[in-house]
Amino acid sequence: MSALGSLTVVGLGPGPDRWLTPEVADVLAHSTDLVGYGPYLDRIPHSAFHRRHGSDNRVELSRARLALDLAVSGRRVALVSGGDPGVFAMASALFEALESADDPAWAEVPVRVCPGVSAMLAAAARVGAPLGHDFCVLSLSDNLKPWDLVLKRLRLAAEGDFVIALYNPISKARPWQLGAALDTLRTLKDPATPVVLARAVGRHDEDVTITTLADCDPATADMRTLVLIGSSQTRLLPKGKDGDVWVYTPRGYAAVEDR
Ligand code: SAH
Repeated sequence: MSALGSLTVVGLGPGPDRWLTPEVADVLAHSTDLVGYGPYLDRIPHSAFHRRHGSDNRVELSRARLALDLAVSGRRVALVSGGDPGVFAMASALFEALESADDPAWAEVPVRVCPGVSAMLAAAARVGAPLGHDFCVLSLSDNLKPWDLVLKRLRLAAEGDFVIALYNPISKARPWQLGAALDTLRTLKDPATPVVLARAVGRHDEDVTITTLADCDPATADMRTLVLIGSSQTRLLPKGKDGDVWVYTPRGYAAVEDR
């Protein structure tokens, strides 16, 4: 067997290269093999030094196993996600593969996880500071968990008055979930609660809509949309004369500040 390689789990950020950290750029430049979902690999400039192992979105565990096998064979592997690799992404899939320990040699592979800019951070920055106080994050995908659990978490997040960030709000295979989630939240929260639909943030076709819980149209979202739903404290601040607004959540609750 050749000398052991390495496996580095990286996130590319939500879109443009300027949101890719210098650390991740360095890892990509020094990797021999890139493993990941095809469209993410397409974002990395081609180089004669890389071998690319693109795959379908639904095969995370086999992709992690492939990355481990390549590292065992001596390759320097970058396992690539969008955004941050630990947020609904490949880092967990890698540790699941490692825990299953299909191959004892995997345990010897030097593994590192590099952080990235997650979509909710880019979306929040676009509109101001909606995540400035306590918030919670859910994936609306019920591919990997039961829908009842999604609804329970939404109800409890509303009860806890968290700002809520929703990943994977909708897809061709899951067309109704966002509408159902909004219907649940409408029974629990003020209809005037600010809602942000941030689509393809940082991309050429970016489209950010600021609306309210009452008016939010799930058809405005697609699989590249990040949804932010305000807490009772989240508010709009006029930007200037043209009707544009910032969305922000103050650092504290008024009653506490006055004490
Ligand atoms: N690891 C990624 C999330 C992967 S889940 C991260 O940290 O961002 C995929 C979901 O991320 C999408 O359904 C969408 O909700 C969100 N997303 C990814 N890129 C985005 C972008 N550029 N703009 C808005 N949302 C995005």
